[in-house]
Amino acid sequence: MYLKELSITGFKSFAKKGELEFSAPITAIVGPNGSGKSNVAESFRFVLGEQSVKSMRGKRGEDLIWGGSAQVARGNRASVTITLDNSNKVFPLDFSEIKIERVVHRDGQNEYILNGSTVRLKDIQELLASANIGSTGHHIISQGEADRILTANPKERREMIEDALGLKIYQYKRQEAERKLTKTVENVAQVESLRREAAPHLKYLEKQVQKIEKSLQLQEQLKAVYAEYLRREDIYIAFHYDRLTTARRIPQAELEGVTAALAAAKKTLQASESNQDSEQLIKLQEAVQQALHDRQVAEREFSKCEGQIALLERRVAEQERRSKTVEGKAIPYADIAALIKDIEQQVSKVVQKDEVTFLQRALSDIVHRLKLFIERSSAATDTTSEFDIKELRRLKEEIEKLAIRVADAQGKETRARKVYGEMEEQRVKEATDGREAERAVFRLVGEQRELETQLERIDRELAILDRDRNEFKRELQEAVALLGRAAAAYYEYLIVDSAGASVAEETVVQEDRETQRARRHELEKLKIRLEELGIGATDEVIKEYNDAKERDAFLAHEIADLESSISKLRELITELDAKLEEQFVVGIKKISLEFNRFFTLMFGGGEAELVTVTTKTRASEDELTEEGEIEEKKEEGIELVAKLPNKRVKGLEMLSGGERALTSIALIFAMSQVNPPPFIILDETDAALDEANSRRYGDMIEALSKKSQLILITHNRETMSRAGILYGVTMAGDGISKLLSVKLDEAVAVAK
Ligand code: ATP
Repeated sequence: MYLKELSITGFKSFAKKGELEFSAPITAIVGPNGSGKSNVAESFRFVLGEQSVKSMRGKRGEDLIWGGSAQVARGNRASVTITLDNSNKVFPLDFSEIKIERVVHRDGQNEYILNGSTVRLKDIQELLASANIGSTGHHIISQGEADRILTANPKERREMIEDALGLKIYQYKRQEAERKLTKTVENVAQVESLRREAAPHLKYLEKQVQKIEKSLQLQEQLKAVYAEYLRREDIYIAFHYDRLTTARRIPQAELEGVTAALAAAKKTLQASESNQDSEQLIKLQEAVQQALHDRQVAEREFSKCEGQIALLERRVAEQERRSKTVEGKAIPYADIAALIKDIEQQVSKVVQKDEVTFLQRALSDIVHRLKLFIERSSAATDTTSEFDIKELRRLKEEIEKLAIRVADAQGKETRARKVYGEMEEQRVKEATDGREAERAVFRLVGEQRELETQLERIDRELAILDRDRNEFKRELQEAVALLGRAAAAYYEYLIVDSAGASVAEETVVQEDRETQRARRHELEKLKIRLEELGIGATDEVIKEYNDAKERDAFLAHEIADLESSISKLRELITELDAKLEEQFVVGIKKISLEFNRFFTLMFGGGEAELVTVTTKTRASEDELTEEGEIEEKKEEGIELVAKLPNKRVKGLEMLSGGERALTSIALIFAMSQVNPPPFIILDETDAALDEANSRRYGDMIEALSKKSQLILITHNRETMSRAGILYGVTMAGDGISKLLSVKLDEAVAVAK
């Protein structure tokens, strides 16, 4: 048994909570008219997800909620809970018991709760369909609706039968697949539109990237030309700079030497030309003259003194001899003094004169005067000898002093002469040096000019090299700016010739500058081409292109996935259609047979069957054919064919109320027999049966209860007698339905 319990709170007349337990295969619900029995059957419909309020005898959702009475205020919500056993996992859920609750609020809001969790209606429907409790409610036959299956059109009937056959689950799956298919087709369209929208931009980016690739190629080319150009230039400049600076060193050093030598020579020349020395020489010469003069004066005085001494000595000797002889006569001092004075005057006159003739004349004059004096004195008496001796002594002292003076004067003269001689020697030397210096200046100026010319030539070359070096630096900076830091690693570049052999630096430095200029020209051309491409932030464009491409690929993949889903869904739909068709065909046959069996059983003969018919219905105006006409739809439906025993009439419309009831019961039972639902609720299906038929009905119920649990709302005693559990429904003056368990006798009483 699947059905365990039903709990009703606030639903219709069940203002207060009422519970029903279904522990027997057949449960009968009995009670007087209007007590709320049908409300119980409707509470089943409600909790199983019925969407038609009308089928629950209401207009709006709130009609299902306790509307209130004079005694009890209206409710705000109606809730019904059904408890189903799932110990044998009929429902695909990992619970041994399943509780489904549906709540409706006054605002019409519905809630579905499955084992305490809020779920969607769809979840409930699918869950129930999996246990053959379909939403068409074929297993809940409401009051007066027993012949609904008879009055239904073929299409509706087909749906009921499909539901009874448990095909609903496939239909749900099919609907789901259809829904997914529609959604997927929409998605494909959306994704395709996205892809289409993005396509022009992708194309634009593709072109940009092509440009970038072109630019990268050019950059590579530029890099190579730059590397070779810079490498060669670097080698060339370094080599020639070295060569020139080395070449400059010797003439520079020579020039320095020459300049210094020239300066020295000029100085020497200048020194030889200066007259400072001649002045000094004149002064020295004057000093020599002075010294000479001093010496001569001293010598003369010395000689004079010597002469006087000799004279006096001779006179003294004469006087001594005369004293002995005539000659020894003394000469008076006054005579001598007068003589000396006379001679001194003579001498002083001569001293002023520089000439020898004067001297000679003066000397012979002196000699003459002296001879006269002697002649005169010899005649005189000898009185002066003592005086002479004294004078002699004085003169001897005098001469000693004069000797020292002469020696001094000589010394001075010698020194003056020496200094003069040295000076003169120096002068001669300087004169010689001066001449040499003059020659040297001529020579050195020539050499200097030559060296300067040589250096100028080198400097000119160096200046060109400097200009080249500045150009090189500027070019390097530009290369780095254009190609990045890698361009600075040009020195790693290996220069090769056209045969691929590496080129030695000696060859590089000898290369014709024109070739290098051609390379430079090539660089300029490449730069212009790059500039013309006008590529900006390449990384961003490439990234954007990659992103766009990736997105496009993603979208393409998405489309492929969606298309694959579409074909899978189509396959699934075809499969489901085939399965539905097959199971329907098989099921309808079985039901038809069972229908016939129950029918003959009920009527004690006759025959009945189900026939598949195709009806044409006009589709709605929305669905026009290509020609613009309203399309006619072909629909497969089920018709009933029933022939009562001993009666000619075949049409259903010819049947009496009881016959209709029996026929529909036969069909309902047949449907339930082929694919038994867990429970069947029959609300006064037996109302129109007479006693004999009630019994037959009772027998069939019992047979049916072997496969499905039955809940029967009935006034029929026979039916009540077949039930294992009986519930009575009562309604007191407060308008509230109440449930109570009753015994058969009580039930019979309650039913009345
Ligand atoms: P019968 O044997 O005549 O078929 P029944 O036992 O099946 O009667 P129901 O039709 O189930 O009786 O009950 C109808 C009763 O429920 C009425 O009295 C009606 O007023 C009451 N009822 C229906 N809807 C509501 C509601 N929303 N609030 C209160 N009472 C309601």
